[in-house]
Amino acid sequence: MERTRQYRKLAGVAAAPGVAIGRAFIRNEEVPEIPKRKISAHQVEGEVERFLNTLHQVGEEIRRTQHLVEVEHGAELALIFEAQLFMLDDPEIKKQTLALIREHQCAADRAFSVTLKQARKMFERVENEYLRMRLSDVMDIEQQVLIRLAGGELRALHALRANTVVVAHDLPPSEAVQLGQRRVKGLVTDGGGATSHASIIARSLGLPTVVGTEHASRQIASGDMVIVDGDQGVVHLHPTAQILRSYRGQVQRQVQRQRDLSARRSLPARTRDEHEIELLANIDVPEEVQLALDNGARGVGMYRTELLYLGYRLPSEEEQVEIYTRIVEALAPLPVVIRTVDLGGDKLSHVIESVPEANPFLGWRGIRICLDTPSLFKTQLRAVLRAGVKGEVQLLLPMVSSLGEVRRARAALDEVQEELRLAGVPFKESCKLGVMVEVPSVALQADIFAREVDFFSLGTNDLTQYTLAVDRGTAKVAELYDPFHPAVLRLIALTVDSGRRQGIPVSICGELAGDPLAVPLLVGLGLESLSLSPGLIPEVKEVIRAISQSEARELAASCLELKTGTEVRQRLEEAVSRIPK
Ligand code: PEP
Ligand code: MG
Repeated sequence: MERTRQYRKLAGVAAAPGVAIGRAFIRNEEVPEIPKRKISAHQVEGEVERFLNTLHQVGEEIRRTQHLVEVEHGAELALIFEAQLFMLDDPEIKKQTLALIREHQCAADRAFSVTLKQARKMFERVENEYLRMRLSDVMDIEQQVLIRLAGGELRALHALRANTVVVAHDLPPSEAVQLGQRRVKGLVTDGGGATSHASIIARSLGLPTVVGTEHASRQIASGDMVIVDGDQGVVHLHPTAQILRSYRGQVQRQVQRQRDLSARRSLPARTRDEHEIELLANIDVPEEVQLALDNGARGVGMYRTELLYLGYRLPSEEEQVEIYTRIVEALAPLPVVIRTVDLGGDKLSHVIESVPEANPFLGWRGIRICLDTPSLFKTQLRAVLRAGVKGEVQLLLPMVSSLGEVRRARAALDEVQEELRLAGVPFKESCKLGVMVEVPSVALQADIFAREVDFFSLGTNDLTQYTLAVDRGTAKVAELYDPFHPAVLRLIALTVDSGRRQGIPVSICGELAGDPLAVPLLVGLGLESLSLSPGLIPEVKEVIRAISQSEARELAASCLELKTGTEVRQRLEEAVSRIPK
């Protein structure tokens, strides 16, 4: 595709808020085609040695990156690199490459390239979706080894220049975790949705991100100036001086606003009529705990544990106990809600055998996988209960759709408690068990569920997709994905009312809780606890401090009478515009 330096605006999906201005670095460039090159018989052993040395160097490089990630982001994210190391060490790949060098007198780069091409083909054909996704790991290894064999420098993400915007067709988690360093300012991907792995990680790292741009990685070249607008979901390529000026102003205002908010972080989240709202943090990695506390969180309302399961093997009980204990101790006596692993949908783990599904979000996901894989589920339950002795831990079940699942989960919890008791291992005896209300069936039966669980947590990300039949990760239908749709609001109201009647707490941990426009509505609907991305807490607290609960109630009641999501947004925008700044 011919490239001009003309200004272009690329549309995508807003995946992580904020604005980043920088030079592009294109990731996932094509693996270079290596021409046929024969070597003479006396060069063979030298070429073998060169190949083995290169594998060793690349392995060291990956281990170094793994170590850096471990220091900066913790052991569980570092586990993700195990898949690459495992592939690098694959005896079959080594054997085939060496055979080509020795028996066909192929140059090492050509021999490795031919071998990996076959491996790529095999990965493209496999039915297991997760393994197919690992293709990017194979390509990554291939690139790294070939660049080294060609005498080039590795362009690992941790060796990037300052103010870089990473642009990728697709970003494996192993790459995404390397983005959390000061030089990377933003992320753009062709594929993915707001809840794909890369987006989840980028959000937890606070990187402005736009995904689902379709062709950005082909339209942008390394070194191009780009602006990532993670609020609007657009990328400006070769911005004009005027656009740059306007965005630079926006970035400065953002920084100033963050400073102002940070100065006010210890103020209570209390409405004008003295009603306290509990603000909790959603976290994906333990390192976010500090960020949560710095932003004034009163605990963790949802720890998504999926990242622990994206490595090459399942996390052991001891590893989990260590990670959960770290979080619980850092926050004690504040509560920590640990969500049991929500694999499936777009969060695929290759440590679990699964078959391809036509509709993964309606398939083997969340609690369904856990109940069908008792060893995995019970290991996690045991680890949570053991960490619970150090503070206030609660368990949250994702993707529940019927009461039978809660009963089976409770039975597994009872079994685990009995096992720990018999083994004389200390654990938390009275661990609260809650469910995510993210499938409409649970909201509609909330009165029934409320008698058998200790709390509800509204997962509006999924509740919206399942209520409106709109995939949350598909850019094409993104406009139909509307958490302000009156049907979703009715389900929220139903859940809150059922919780109140039965006397159990109701919180909300979907992205809606972090949207300042939604906050008066949620408070008005009766929610007394919101769990959101740590970075969004100060902004949400400002809204809470500016409204009164009685006015919010009237506003919510009027919104419930409206007919469309657009009308609800308009009503809320009017109300928010009246809030004094
Ligand atoms: C939700 O569905 O709203 C939720 C919080 O869970 P997740 O985004 O992890 O699916
Ligand atoms: Mg969910």
